[in-house]
Amino acid sequence: MKEDYYEILEVDKNASAAEIKKAYRKKAIQYHPDKNPGDAKAEEMFKKSAEAYEVLSDPDKRARYDQYGHAAFDGNGGFGGGGMNMDDIFSQFGDIFGSAFGGGFGGFSSGFGGQRRVKGSNLRIHVKLTLEEIAQGVEKKVKVRRKVQAPGVSYKTCPTCHGTGQVTRVTNTILGRMQTSAPCNACGGSGQIIEKKPSDADAQGLKISEETVSIKIPAGVADGMQLKVTGKGNEAPGNGIAGDLLVVIGEVEHETLKREGDNLHYDLYVSIPEAVLGTSKEIDAVTGKVRIKLEAGMQSGKILRLRGKGIPSINGYGSGDLLVHVNVWTPKTLNKEQKDFFEQMLQDEHFTPKPEKSDKSFFEKVKDMFS
Ligand SMILES: [Zn+2]
Repeated sequence: MKEDYYEILEVDKNASAAEIKKAYRKKAIQYHPDKNPGDAKAEEMFKKSAEAYEVLSDPDKRARYDQYGHAAFDGNGGFGGGGMNMDDIFSQFGDIFGSAFGGGFGGFSSGFGGQRRVKGSNLRIHVKLTLEEIAQGVEKKVKVRRKVQAPGVSYKTCPTCHGTGQVTRVTNTILGRMQTSAPCNACGGSGQIIEKKPSDADAQGLKISEETVSIKIPAGVADGMQLKVTGKGNEAPGNGIAGDLLVVIGEVEHETLKREGDNLHYDLYVSIPEAVLGTSKEIDAVTGKVRIKLEAGMQSGKILRLRGKGIPSINGYGSGDLLVHVNVWTPKTLNKEQKDFFEQMLQDEHFTPKPEKSDKSFFEKVKDMFS
């Protein structure tokens, strides 16, 4: 059983955004790795607090959490078993530590007992996918302009902080005497300074490089989702680690299929004789052609559900359905012969509508679909 996010941060369920931020800042400082070197319990609490803050600081996620609890984040957008890692926490919430722990570049990766390493900043790109690509999953090659260490650059240990990347300071705060570490100004926290660099590199010894990055996109992604390619963001100087490449998914509208979650909708038009006599039709489903049989006496407005012919679930739990909406198409003009035929049918009582219970109205069908 996972702990309640509000209990982790020790805030009320009705706490304001400012109260949540304040509560998280307090926890983050209390359990910060720099203050608790080698303490696994503190690390655990540090991660839990960050996870709770990640959800409660986002109005959307908070609303979902309030309604569904932890189940709201199972699978997609969840934290799985592993929770957040330290890099994520520092790159997402680094600003919240404020002056107490300093910022610099894209943030810091601070391992326990290990040395701080500067992390390069993240890059974000947008990728547009067709419904077919989304249904099958796809590998995309994209051009990325990222900062990399220039060829020929070299770094040496910073003489000011002797390579630790931080200077220690003792301050008196309302929480008591606190030993805080601030990033070293001389090296920006990396613990290293430039020894020599080529003339086309920037002050950190970096230069822009255009690279082709291959991105594996799983089936079932949706518009607005964000994937992460670790280490393909900007590089950091010295022995720092590269930031990440964040890939934002966009969906190109399909010509005939409308997506609704993992389900797809398709409008099928049949002629009056086809509806009366029955027919067989081929439909362009997202995974290829599907042949469906329409029984004689098909009612206009009928919805046929083709199970599993929708979009695969991103969580790997099966696929959505393809819902085929049957529309009987009526010609606007008729020649003399056709007109005579229909006028004859008009006299025939057999053609007077006598809907059965099974010929549900449109509204009842829609109700069924969502129940
Ligand atoms: Zn330094």
